[in-house]
Amino acid sequence: MESFTELTLEPSIRDALKKMGYEKPSPIQAQAIPLIQEGHDVIALAKTGSGKTAACAIPVCDRVDVSRTDIQALIVVPTRELALQYATETQKIGKLRGVKAYAMFGGEDYSLQRAKLSHGVQVLIATPGRLIDFIYKREVDLSEVATLILDEADEMLSMGFYDDIDFIIQCLIHEHQTLLFSATMPQQIRKIAQHHMKTPREVVFEQKERIPDTISHRFGFCQHHDRDEVLLGMLKKHSPKQAIVFCKSRVQVEQLSRSLGRNLREVDYLHGGLSQEARRSITGKFRSGRIRFLVATDVAARGLDFSGVTHVFMYQLPEDPETYIHRAGRTGRMERSGEVLSLVTSREIGALKRILELMKKEAIWEGDPPRNWDSIKDSKAPPKPPRGRGGPKGSSRPRRRPPSKPKS
Ligand code: ADP
Ligand code: MG
Repeated sequence: MESFTELTLEPSIRDALKKMGYEKPSPIQAQAIPLIQEGHDVIALAKTGSGKTAACAIPVCDRVDVSRTDIQALIVVPTRELALQYATETQKIGKLRGVKAYAMFGGEDYSLQRAKLSHGVQVLIATPGRLIDFIYKREVDLSEVATLILDEADEMLSMGFYDDIDFIIQCLIHEHQTLLFSATMPQQIRKIAQHHMKTPREVVFEQKERIPDTISHRFGFCQHHDRDEVLLGMLKKHSPKQAIVFCKSRVQVEQLSRSLGRNLREVDYLHGGLSQEARRSITGKFRSGRIRFLVATDVAARGLDFSGVTHVFMYQLPEDPETYIHRAGRTGRMERSGEVLSLVTSREIGALKRILELMKKEAIWEGDPPRNWDSIKDSKAPPKPPRGRGGPKGSSRPRRRPPSKPKS
């Protein structure tokens, strides 16, 4: 599709898109928008950075009755950051039409949220926990919701939100359209689709397309105790315009941020333990370029769109290869190029092999590969840990996270 004029849209929506610099629909938008407008339930699977937010926000803003003050579209997202980002995009798209979109999430004052809702919200974007609080207190009216959207559905499920989502869906007892957006299609999503969707149309982009090929992937082998130094060397060598450095835990994020801060300027960190105000301020500063190096847990990997990120660094590889893809997807947005550089210690060889297997790529090493790499890489892969567990080698302790409050 060459232009948004090929879609039937209100002129005010088309003008807003033009103002935003969106010239033509991305492939997922071209396919999903007409199906959504026809009223089908839709499952859309596409890699991160493919424009899934607008694929849904465009038809929603186009359709909302702006003369009414009730909630007509409900969008459930996994994290607060994503809720804010979704709301911002929706507000831009719906601005000229006068669409009122609002993001509601945990960590913010209830009375403020209550007041906002009572002023009239047509598109509500919410994280599961806070939404359920409002449902229990009967302080949100979902009876006019015509479209329910589950965004980053795979992430919500891997964060343990299955029961919450199931509950939210059960609360919408009237006829409505359900749209499900995800990067992958795990079994639980199939289950939700089977139970709650009416002959959904699927918009699927090839698995191989999930990893943008504009992103390069390199690995630096090092000893555990050398990691800070090796990372610092890489940061200096590549001199990224803007980078996210991923770590596994909050503690590690803070330690690394301090250690990098001694040698570099414009370093800050982001993790789920910070106050909502702090998180908002940091994501804002990063987006506007006032922070150059953002050290973060995976809370920053969930669908967040920082368009200026030229490099992603991984201080430690994630156990789950899907997490690697999500992290890597923070750069190379919308076909821009991006570089991903990860530190690998001997403990992480197993994780590296799973990642390479998933990406169907050979490792490109920055510096020397591990000793015997050629023979290690061809040996049989160690058994894959079940999704969402992981943990240090030898630990069989299941690391379940509580349903609504993942710590990252
Ligand atoms: P996803 O949810 O698939 O990961 P996003 O919705 O976050 O992707 O979009 C990724 C980026 O692409 C955002 O910066 C968004 O503003 C931009 N974008 C989306 N649609 C278009 C379009 N049609 N033209 C240009 N840029 C777009
Ligand atoms: Mg998204």
